[in-house]
Amino acid sequence: MPVMVRLLLACALAGGAGSAAAFERSDGAQVRCEVERDGERRAVQEVWLGHGESGDRHPALGGAAAAVRPDPDGWPVIYFDVVTMRTFRQSDPHMLDFIFYHECAHATGPERDELEANCEAFLELERQGLMDEPLERAIAATHRKWQRLPSRYGGSGITFWEKTLACVDARRGLPKTESAADRH
Ligand SMILES: [Zn+2]
Repeated sequence: MPVMVRLLLACALAGGAGSAAAFERSDGAQVRCEVERDGERRAVQEVWLGHGESGDRHPALGGAAAAVRPDPDGWPVIYFDVVTMRTFRQSDPHMLDFIFYHECAHATGPERDELEANCEAFLELERQGLMDEPLERAIAATHRKWQRLPSRYGGSGITFWEKTLACVDARRGLPKTESAADRH
């Protein structure tokens, strides 16, 4: 049984939240989302919410698979919805790493909007050597299934993914030393 599944079962059996600071990627690597604040570096805590029963999506996440919220001291925490993430694991398993890096992009850059978090997730998978054509096609296909999305996600999965790719192309074209803020 994969570690993720065992972790989820453990969370479900514990009746709610489970907490960790590492994410098991699809290639088996244990990865951490690290954030720096006031010169201090920490691994972002990951909390799994929900009891795992079908239909039991955690209300705090508003139906999202995952979300980032600050803890009382202002450090970001990634909350995963047990049920939604399990559904992704069953039907769109290629989305799990992408979701992790999307949430990590929010955690490390609170100013990033949904498009920028998606863009950063794509680029990070590329930097990690995980992105290839089949994966890109699979992630695109999942996005295109989402016919209606809140406006912060571009209104539809097709638009969200088109904008993500446009952002990726634009960011790839930037020299490493020049930030987007320097360009007009
Ligand atoms: Zn997001």
